[in-house]
Amino acid sequence: MTVLKPTRKGPLAFLFAGERAGPSNSVRGAPLQMVGPDQDAVEADLLAGRLVCGSCGGELRPWGHARWRRLRDRTRLVRLRPRRARCASCQLTHVLLPVFALLRRRDLAEVIGEALRSRHLEGLSRREMAERAGVVADTARGWLRRFDERAEAIRADFAALAHRYDPQLPPIEPRGSPCADALEAIGVAAAAAVRLLGPAPLWDFVAGASGGRLLSNTSCPLPGPA
Ligand SMILES: [Zn+2]
Repeated sequence: MTVLKPTRKGPLAFLFAGERAGPSNSVRGAPLQMVGPDQDAVEADLLAGRLVCGSCGGELRPWGHARWRRLRDRTRLVRLRPRRARCASCQLTHVLLPVFALLRRRDLAEVIGEALRSRHLEGLSRREMAERAGVVADTARGWLRRFDERAEAIRADFAALAHRYDPQLPPIEPRGSPCADALEAIGVAAAAAVRLLGPAPLWDFVAGASGGRLLSNTSCPLPGPA
């Protein structure tokens, strides 16, 4: 088992630091806030007062840590202990979840996202998809069911985000099914974000933009209009 300590840096901080992420989720009573994947950078930002409360825009300050979690990166287990922070203005405490994870999912956002893509765009069978993702059939079935339930909302949220990042963007072409349409909107939004902000890993972008709730039964807190 390794302790996950990613060093990737990208423009994702734009999504979390400068904008309000909308109403927060809660993790055991504490609101969830997405942060960049580089935990050293998050720590430095937190100590320097550069992280902003997603609920009120106040300054976040260090407030201990959440419990250890074991996440799966296909066959590799990774340990993560998310930072907690407290808002100096509204006093809410937040769990700071790195964008490589999704709320209440044990598998990394990239593993889940690539699995959904392989099923809906590459046409893998459910069994092949589960094998490639390194998960049991029930887990894969749960991802597919939830993505299917949320496909239209995900498509609408990411299409809106794509057009916000690139107002000149033409309408997004339908791909023939609600799930494929949602993945197409995700891809177009990610490409627009890269053009505007610079490169970032696709599924980090998706996890951040959805507030970690891509596969949660509440709506995505995508950033509102600028
Ligand atoms: Zn606050």
